[in-house]
Amino acid sequence: MSIGKIGVTSNDLFPIIKKFLYSDHDIFLREIVSNAVDATQKLKTLASSGEFKGEVGELRVSVSIDKEAKTITISDNGIGMTQEEIEKYINQIAFSGAEEFMDKYKDQANAIIGHFGLGFYSSFMVSDKVDIVTLSHKEGAEAVKWSCEGNPEYTLEKVEKADRGTDIVMHISEEEEAFLEESRIQELLNKYCKFLPVEIAFGKKKEWKDGKNVDTDEDNIINDTNPAWTKKPADLKEEDYSDFYRQLYPMGEDPLFHIHLNVDYPFNLTGILYFPKIKNSVEIQKNKIQLYCNQVFVTDSVEGIVPEFLTMLHGVIDSPDIPLNVSRSYLQSDGNVKKIASHISKKVADSLNDIFKNDRADFEMKWDDLRIFIQYGMLTEDKFFDRSKKFMLFKNTEGKYFTMEEYEAIIKENQTDKDSNIITLYATDVDAQYTYIEAAKAKGYDVLVMDSQLDNHLINHLEQKTPTTKYVRVDSDIIEKLIQKDEVKVSKLTEEQRNDLIPVFNSHLPSGKVNYIVAFESLGEEAQPLLITQSEFMRRMKDMAAMNAGMGFYGEMPDSFNLVVNSDHALIENILNDKDAKMGEKLAEVSAKLTPLFEEREQLDALKKDKKADEVPQEEKDKMAEVQKQISAVNAEKEELLKGYGKDNQLVKQLIDLALLANNMLKGAELAKFVKRSVDMIK
Ligand code: ADP
Ligand code: MG
Repeated sequence: MSIGKIGVTSNDLFPIIKKFLYSDHDIFLREIVSNAVDATQKLKTLASSGEFKGEVGELRVSVSIDKEAKTITISDNGIGMTQEEIEKYINQIAFSGAEEFMDKYKDQANAIIGHFGLGFYSSFMVSDKVDIVTLSHKEGAEAVKWSCEGNPEYTLEKVEKADRGTDIVMHISEEEEAFLEESRIQELLNKYCKFLPVEIAFGKKKEWKDGKNVDTDEDNIINDTNPAWTKKPADLKEEDYSDFYRQLYPMGEDPLFHIHLNVDYPFNLTGILYFPKIKNSVEIQKNKIQLYCNQVFVTDSVEGIVPEFLTMLHGVIDSPDIPLNVSRSYLQSDGNVKKIASHISKKVADSLNDIFKNDRADFEMKWDDLRIFIQYGMLTEDKFFDRSKKFMLFKNTEGKYFTMEEYEAIIKENQTDKDSNIITLYATDVDAQYTYIEAAKAKGYDVLVMDSQLDNHLINHLEQKTPTTKYVRVDSDIIEKLIQKDEVKVSKLTEEQRNDLIPVFNSHLPSGKVNYIVAFESLGEEAQPLLITQSEFMRRMKDMAAMNAGMGFYGEMPDSFNLVVNSDHALIENILNDKDAKMGEKLAEVSAKLTPLFEEREQLDALKKDKKADEVPQEEKDKMAEVQKQISAVNAEKEELLKGYGKDNQLVKQLIDLALLANNMLKGAELAKFVKRSVDMIK
């Protein structure tokens, strides 16, 4: 027996292993099992090249737990190691290349570990002592046992071993004894080793016998050595893809469709991605994409590794170019990983385009479940935006689908405004905005349904990309103004009539959280007498604020609506006539007080006309202020009279309530009062 020192000068190795890899100690099993798999794969290669002439036999890795001895053993019948190879690969290589690096970055152990995988030495995260008992495949080789107790010293001795291959015996430390539980190891094997290319046996298959579970003779193989993604797409049927999906996510809902990735240039990559049904929210998907390196599981937290929108997909990506035993931050900054990510994004766009072109009807059918994903991609990745322009769909209120290009062609003629902007009208709630949609349709306009969680953002994005297209919600203005053409109608009402009507309507408008502005339009005798609209800009800002904490300012603004009075409507004329009949005299009396005040103001204005501000004598300034104050007082008096009149006017109240009702804005007590008043009116 000989004693030696592991080929690192630094004594830091073991403390680093224990301390810094602690949070991720699970991976020791993956590392040791994948080494065993590598050893069997290597033997296969040697056999097929003729270098190894012996009997290959059935290659297999087995994992076993000995609770009494407190060991976990990973055995393989792969190439094994000679004493020289142990010296070279175990004693020397682990950190030899990293020594310089380690000296330099002593305080950044994470960077070291991130950069140089620990592989075999990760076994010391959970072990007090590790033995390697190995017999090389080489003719005449002698078995050796290497043993190390978590310090730079090791022992090496000749032993007896009947079969070719390697046993790694890990003497589990006291604080890691949880790993001696079968269920824990089963869980880890299932996580990391489920698709390894060589059979992994963990104990024996069990059988129910005489009222209890007993071992059979058959090995319990825990992995599928030939997962679907390693096969050729031509050899797979739809069914195989859905079976594989079940294998990955036993609880998952059936996906919409899949794409099979198969790249060998400029890097190697295989995988199958599934598009899940994404309902109307960007919820975090529980079935995550799994990243593999040569069928060894690396991670399923791919945030920062693949573009964010792709994390909504399910499935597996496997590439030998994905570094295995490195830290997450290193993985994120790895050049290969970045290339892979942008490649996947392109592939996904290409496949969607193919599906769209080959089976548009099917694509349309799946659109509602797919759009959030595509919209998210368009919003967050410019390249994806450009690629998806071809297949992104708009749906109109009739349930027809259009690409952006098709849609523009359809609406261009009728929906271009006087400034040459193409106006796309949309509704976010087909029922609530029904009257507006109907009005738009009557005018020959088309209306899109934009009710996804991301539509708001997408609209802003589309407007930025093409400034001549504008998106306007169908209820954001009266129909004539939604798409402003040249013809401007003048209101039938005089300025005085309008000024009189404002307080009359204001007297019934709720105030506080919601603001109303009374406006006048000529909408024709057949249109509704009153309409409520909300400015596109304000509404969008408020919607965005609701989703976006940084825009709190808009969120706190009151909702602001327009109460549009149709000056063509007979009922408005009735109100004006009624007002004149009941209030005409009183109003005239008050208005009469204004005449001398206006005269006086005119005189004062004439006096100061040629003077600079500081040349006007104080006396004149005071007089002017006094006159203004009196005018305001008279106006206020007039307003009070009109408000008082309005308050008692049932018709005004009824019209406002009807307008609110048409917008689904009449609620609670106000709604109950409306119903009662309506019944009283027809009684
Ligand atoms: P890596 O696997 O990245 O090469 P490891 O630290 O995991 O690094 O392993 C170091 C080396 O030890 C391997 O390259 C291999 O030569 C050797 N080795 C480890 N485990 C085995 C095994 N079970 N059979 C044969 N050789 C092994
Ligand atoms: Mg390894």
